Amino acid sequence: MPVSAIAPTLVDGTGERDALSVLNSVFGLSAFRGAQQQIVEHVTGGGNCLVLMPTGGGKSLCYQLPALLRAGCGIVVSPLIALMRDQVAGLVEAGVNAAVLNSTLSFDEASEVERRLLASDLDLLYVAPERLLTPRCLALLDQASISLFAIDEAHCVSQWGHDFRPEYIGLSLIAERFPDVPRIALTATADEATRKEIVDRLGLAGAPSFVASFDRPNIRYEIVDKQNAQTQLKAFIAERHRGDAGIVYCLSRAKVEDTAAALAKAGVEALPYHAGLDAATRAKHQDRFLNEDGVVIVATIAFGMGIDKPDVRFVAHLDLPKSIEAYYQETGRAGRDSKPSTAWMAYGLSDIVQQRRMIDESAGSETFKRVSIDKLDALVGLAETVSCRRSRLLGYFGETVAGASCGNCDNCLSPPSLRDGKVAAQKLLSCAYRTGQRFGAMHLIDVLVGRMTERVGQFGHDKLSVFGIGRELNEKQWRAVMRQLVAMGHLRSDSDAFGALKLTESARGVLKGETEVWLRESAPGSRNRAIRTKSRRGDLASQPASQGGGADSALHAALRGWRSAIARQRGVPAYVVLHDSTIDGIASVRPTTLSQLRNISGIGDKKLEHYGAELLALVKAGA
Ligand code: ADP
Ligand code: ZN
Repeated sequence: MPVSAIAPTLVDGTGERDALSVLNSVFGLSAFRGAQQQIVEHVTGGGNCLVLMPTGGGKSLCYQLPALLRAGCGIVVSPLIALMRDQVAGLVEAGVNAAVLNSTLSFDEASEVERRLLASDLDLLYVAPERLLTPRCLALLDQASISLFAIDEAHCVSQWGHDFRPEYIGLSLIAERFPDVPRIALTATADEATRKEIVDRLGLAGAPSFVASFDRPNIRYEIVDKQNAQTQLKAFIAERHRGDAGIVYCLSRAKVEDTAAALAKAGVEALPYHAGLDAATRAKHQDRFLNEDGVVIVATIAFGMGIDKPDVRFVAHLDLPKSIEAYYQETGRAGRDSKPSTAWMAYGLSDIVQQRRMIDESAGSETFKRVSIDKLDALVGLAETVSCRRSRLLGYFGETVAGASCGNCDNCLSPPSLRDGKVAAQKLLSCAYRTGQRFGAMHLIDVLVGRMTERVGQFGHDKLSVFGIGRELNEKQWRAVMRQLVAMGHLRSDSDAFGALKLTESARGVLKGETEVWLRESAPGSRNRAIRTKSRRGDLASQPASQGGGADSALHAALRGWRSAIARQRGVPAYVVLHDSTIDGIASVRPTTLSQLRNISGIGDKKLEHYGAELLALVKAGA
């Protein structure tokens, strides 16, 4: 069934289908976001372009709509099989004739898709790149009527990028073989070198680039002092994200297992995911995360690529990633649906030490190590900053933000104070110096606070002038001082000497009193609470999604339960049936008629037809 049949009103005065009415009738959305409209018009008119938008920015519509508006079938090249499958499921739900062509299909299934393509029975066809480049597929495309090529995750053509895929290189053939078919390349990775490579390889010279802001205003950035990370994580989930879907990242498999078990014990629906688990378990855990409500996945960074789940409410890091790019990509998996979400990270001295060690011990060249250290330093800078995290983050990607304060990061919501740390720094540096620069954090703290341990006695450190000179601070505070001195580069941990803390060249200035040292002072414990209180008091939109009030919650729960049942029955993720924002819309509007229901964002013609009566019945029962 061509799309015109499901949306017979898509004809404007000029006799052309109009983008806005397709947006409304098929996707149930009332307005374009950002540059979507411009992009849709440009591609529908036959133009090529490059689209750079952050995750969740709404890239899909930029090619889905033109594919529906132009004659022929839109070919979408995507490297991620799980993502293709879910996108197609969503489109089919909305009544669009969409299909996939990849290695998961049987011969018969693939033949049927090919038949539909040639019979002009498809509006969108998702193809894996290696499949597209086969002679058989190219011959098929020669015979078909093609409306456009969309190359998703286009940064995979870049050899310098972090997701290089050799099969993407071959895609330059599209421009040569189908010069008259518009090409739209899309990515969320925006640096200049990658951008240039995409333009070169995909034949986009001269075509416009549409670059959206990379800000994710619905994500609240928070970085806390790591004390006991697991306890902090449990409190964070219990107080702020109970019952929400989330991703927790850890560096090691052992820590993933341990953390998942601890969360499960605390009553959180948490599942581990890492490369050491067998494929069946991984698939099962990923499916539960995608299809069920409120599952938390605890994973190594192996998890996430191709996860298109829109309602991930938080991403938590228990270990420091290796760069701002990685942090941004991983935290970006939260809140694709634009609803309030949190990026939370616990960070401490051991993180810097561990990452530095990994770089030092890596097999990379000196240049590689240098670049890696610079990237790590930039991330540590973000973690230590006392000013707005969002400005810092966007600044790193070359974007400036209006105003100094975003109002939605921990530093803006609960500004940390700065105190003069010159004396503390001098005490700590002298202590490291007098003990021979051979000891790690624990021992230095013992000496500073004058704790008589076996080791202190063994080395005679109780006889040193620095013994007990730091009693005014407790162990936790000394750890924070130490972490910041390492972050500032006055101290460095030596991987060759078991993490012994050594003075750097710049420490001299501090010891002589020539260099100022300002330390970040976060009010211990109270900060989390302050942020939470603010978000409760603040506007409704900044409240965590799961904290609806009273009667609404009952309807909410009923709608979610209904959605889970439908999703199970149809074998698709819950969000493919209805997005959270649509559920919220229904719960707050409480429609009593089909036309009221149709006005809610996310309810298009097909969803109204399929689910309208059931949804109205649920609302009525809940009233
Ligand atoms: P991306 O591919 O850029 O990560 P998606 O295309 O998956 O983003 O869109 C992210 C979310 O935003 C989806 O839930 C989608 O339905 C929603 N969305 C996109 N465009 C609009 C719009 N114009 N109005 C409302 N919601 C939109
Ligand atoms: Zn801010």
